[in-house]
Amino acid sequence: MLQSKLFTKTRKEAPRDEVSKNAALLIRAGYVHKEMAGVYSYLPLGIIVLKKIEEIVRKEMDAIGGRELVLTALQRKDVWEKVGRWDDNTVDVWFKTNLKDGMELGLGFTHDEQLVNLLTEYVHSYKDLPLYLYQIHTKFRNELRAKSGLMRGREFLMKDLYSFNATEKEQDEFYEKIKIAYMNIFRECGIGDITYFTYASGGTFSKYSHEFQTISDAGEDTIYVDEAKKIAVNDEVLNDEVLVGAGLDRKDLVVKKSIEVGNIFKQGTKYTDPFGLQYQDESGQKKSVYMGGYGIGVTRLMGTIVETLSDSVGIVWPESIAPFKFHLVEILGGGDAHKVKESAAELYKALGGDDIVLYDDRDLRAGEKFSDSDLIGIPWRIVVSGKTLEGGMYEVKNRRTGEVKMLLLQDLLAI
Ligand code: ATP
Ligand code: MG
Repeated sequence: MLQSKLFTKTRKEAPRDEVSKNAALLIRAGYVHKEMAGVYSYLPLGIIVLKKIEEIVRKEMDAIGGRELVLTALQRKDVWEKVGRWDDNTVDVWFKTNLKDGMELGLGFTHDEQLVNLLTEYVHSYKDLPLYLYQIHTKFRNELRAKSGLMRGREFLMKDLYSFNATEKEQDEFYEKIKIAYMNIFRECGIGDITYFTYASGGTFSKYSHEFQTISDAGEDTIYVDEAKKIAVNDEVLNDEVLVGAGLDRKDLVVKKSIEVGNIFKQGTKYTDPFGLQYQDESGQKKSVYMGGYGIGVTRLMGTIVETLSDSVGIVWPESIAPFKFHLVEILGGGDAHKVKESAAELYKALGGDDIVLYDDRDLRAGEKFSDSDLIGIPWRIVVSGKTLEGGMYEVKNRRTGEVKMLLLQDLLAI
């Protein structure tokens, strides 16, 4: 992509009311635009990153048998009333609206009820199970506090998968698989070493639910971490019983602030029974379906990556989700401008063009281009200037380590 064609510009300052580091950097670098607290638009650079994260999530969900669908954001009141979650006193994050005839609707803050209700028309027999259905879709929550940038949105992207099994054993097996899939996702997104499998409350069916918590001082949660075992316990459930169950010793644990990037729940028949979602087993007997819910905050994950991996001058994207692999910066002053441009344009093509390279073809001072490059955070910065042309080598900087090397074209192409 040519940087001159990006309509967004970098900014020296974030909006004054933006207190979170992740959103401040993403706004300044031109990835997102703040509409209001907790509500962000994704700009061309931002959507590339978001889609790369989505692809990692999708690949892992598909690999364990997930099937993608998209449920509606507009939801029926009567469906929510079945399990008693329409009431604002029970659910305090509802956004609600009305049809012209006065009928009330809700904007989905989750989709458990809706999906179970839908499946009653499709699931009848043991042959219809198991089902692992997921979507990557916008959720609406009227969050009281929305000060954490992308990490607590009022409108945000979530991956929510729901499992439907005939037996508890089959559900338990799936639960083990999705644990691994989740760790794969966080590792591929560059935060595997700071993300912990965490015991948490909220299991309606099992004693605990599990969260995936990423260590960060900007986090809203407090967890106790066993760094060697890579397991943590949320402070809300810290007691002797959970420690014994998890095989942990209180003296090995250190307390940390953290961000919940995902969670997994066994829900049993909490939702399936009220809707009568049952199946006939091989002998013709009616049985309840076991359900599980598995979330990842996709936009929260993007915010978490920025929050935890950035440095004092800007964002540092892991290569797997960076909007581009290379940031090609041409410096025209002090050389034969025509030759430099020609050489940069050739290199742009050789490196793979539009999807691989952001080409800074703007007529700006070197210092400005370099600080923009640091802020935007693309993994490899390549400088083409009169000086580099003379030496027949390109100056290549690794954004994460700061290391600068002079490389021949063939070595550059091998990165
Ligand atoms: P939290 O405890 O942070 O409020 P939650 O337990 O309500 O989240 P779920 O409803 O289970 O979360 O949602 C699944 C995932 O979606 C969470 O693990 C989190 O990563 C993400 N998420 C939840 N709320 C938000 C939000 N307001 N903005 C962005 N992501 C969110
Ligand atoms: Mg939670």
